[in-house]
Amino acid sequence: MHHFSAIDGVLHAEQVPLALIAEQVGTPTYVYSRATIERHYRVVDQSLHGVDHMVCYAVKACSNLAVLQVLAQLGSGFDIVSAGELARVIQAGGDPAKVVFSGVGKQDFEIAAALQAGIYCFNVESEQELHRIEAVAQRMGKRAPISVRVNPEVDAHTHKYIATGLKTSKFGVSPAVAEAMYHHAAASPHLQVKGVDCHIGSQILQVAPFVEALGKVIELAQRLRGQGIAIAHLDVGGGLGIAYRDETPPLPDELGEALVAVAHRHQFTLVVEPGRVIVGNAGVLLTRVIGTKNNGDKRFVIVDAGMNDLVRPVLYDAWHRIDPVVSHPARTVQLVDVVGPVCESGDFLALDRLLPEVDPDELLAVYGAGAYGYSMASNYNSRPRAAEVLVDGATYQVVRQRESVQDLWRGERLL
Ligand SMILES: *Cc1c(COP(=O)(O)O)cnc(C)c1O
Repeated sequence: MHHFSAIDGVLHAEQVPLALIAEQVGTPTYVYSRATIERHYRVVDQSLHGVDHMVCYAVKACSNLAVLQVLAQLGSGFDIVSAGELARVIQAGGDPAKVVFSGVGKQDFEIAAALQAGIYCFNVESEQELHRIEAVAQRMGKRAPISVRVNPEVDAHTHKYIATGLKTSKFGVSPAVAEAMYHHAAASPHLQVKGVDCHIGSQILQVAPFVEALGKVIELAQRLRGQGIAIAHLDVGGGLGIAYRDETPPLPDELGEALVAVAHRHQFTLVVEPGRVIVGNAGVLLTRVIGTKNNGDKRFVIVDAGMNDLVRPVLYDAWHRIDPVVSHPARTVQLVDVVGPVCESGDFLALDRLLPEVDPDELLAVYGAGAYGYSMASNYNSRPRAAEVLVDGATYQVVRQRESVQDLWRGERLL
């Protein structure tokens, strides 16, 4: 469900024509719909009613300050993976007391910043990291709240780069290692056990892997409780998939129902870390056609957005729907590759795509670009990063201005 649709043959974000944004802000531009973000947050939050819970939006999916602000105003918590993301959350008005800190490479300065801010919980990824957090807390005279990220060894049936719950992944620890870590933590004056954490991957399209993972996490949590270690919450991570093409992901309600039933029975608070499902379909990438060319039988549409703006197609073989912003029903449909200006053969937004014939300067909208779009953008080929716009009803605001050429070498020095 999202708020991008055609009105009189012109694509709109809520009530704002995308062509107007392109004219006033230029291209490429990421356009987010506030109503869509808010709707998705509420659907996820509602899906867990009936049990104490906290929704911690995964900042890395889309970390624009205005997007974080919208979510903070709805009462969202945040899942962060760096001190930079923590700083963003605080800058956007988010509550540090609703922050969980994930990621396999937390450094001392990041742990210190999180302790200083008073975050809710560290999701600890290894024994060594537990000792690191304990040492930093000791130096600061604090007690660090922790959960251990358990690897439930569940196959989430997703792309290999976004499957994180397999035995071979760098994330989490085995239940046996976790148990020993909890015993250490429970005896430490500088650590405070909060819950058990897992996150099995991203773009997951079934409920079953979540339930399987939760089962393993509960098993460990119950065993720990039996040993006198208080476990208040279960964090089941993020990972719920969205429809990019013809996928049929479970509704948040279907997943919620399964999670709530189990959590309620065993009296656990639930923490979830959704990213993609909140913002994925809440953003489009607006791009302009530079030109077209044919090489033999192959047709190319060259646009002004490239892999530096949206890397998902080449990184994950991701399929994004692409529509002309202004539809011309009489045009013939052609099989084309939609490619960017970057000097890489991997620089494509779509391969072998049926698209109506387009002329130079026409606009295209790339759907499903709200998650892992701008947040993964780079300056490769010395391309200033795109602008970001947030639409709210009939109005919009530029929430990140387009980078300038001077921005490209900020911090660089001539000899
Ligand atoms: C990336 C990530 C998420 C969010 O994943 P989505 O698939 O976007 O919902 C949640 N938790 C952790 C630990 C992550 O690394």
